[in-house]
Amino acid sequence: MPKVNTKLVLWDEIVGWCWRLADKVRMEGFKPDVVVAIARGGYVPARLLCDFLDIHDLISLQILHWGKAAEITAVAHVKYPFVVDLSGKKVLLVDDIIDTGDSVIIARDYILSKWKPAELKTAAMQWISPVAKIKPDFYVEEVKEWVWYQYPWTRAEDTTNFFEKIVKESAKEGKLEWTYEELVKEFRNWYGIDVGETYYRIALTRLLENGLIERRGERYVVRRQ
Ligand code: AMP
Repeated sequence: MPKVNTKLVLWDEIVGWCWRLADKVRMEGFKPDVVVAIARGGYVPARLLCDFLDIHDLISLQILHWGKAAEITAVAHVKYPFVVDLSGKKVLLVDDIIDTGDSVIIARDYILSKWKPAELKTAAMQWISPVAKIKPDFYVEEVKEWVWYQYPWTRAEDTTNFFEKIVKESAKEGKLEWTYEELVKEFRNWYGIDVGETYYRIALTRLLENGLIERRGERYVVRRQ
């Protein structure tokens, strides 16, 4: 059993989910004038929804959960609080997944109060119902057991974070040296997925660059933190 319940998502699945999401929006008779993508996770689904629903106006709003050095900030917030006039417009607010729901709640409240659209509905491919503080108006999958969706657009970032976690946790137990093969094997054990050599190599390069590890011949050695 992997330590972290993780699902490797393929591009074709994204397209399929977004078609179904578009169908749901259409079936309800909702005709948005503008799509708003929550950055960064909502970008790709929002762009596909524009295509599938024939919507030409796309705006993005970035919501931050995390501050510098991966410190969680007390409150999720709008990173660039710009204002546009959406009076009279119908908005579809899109994210990839609703987990805690904080991002979509912050974005929705900000848009309603500052951009003043006539109507706003929310959409996401996945909705983690047991933990989410909000149910989106449109979703494709209700997720009843928490899973990390490893979407294709965060593959390098997630692989780096996952490697970092493995290296740091193992260092606490005294393991300070890794070969490439050992690290990849441990990644598969922990997460139960395989992202492929290109991503493993990118992640290793990032860990070397940020100074967590250094290279000694064929081995990667954890540096003193
Ligand atoms: P939320 O907790 O609903 O505010 O989620 C914030 C953002 O973090 C989402 O839009 C995703 O991009 C990312 N995220 C949160 N939970 C997950 C998850 N279980 N799988 C993949 N991405 C996630």
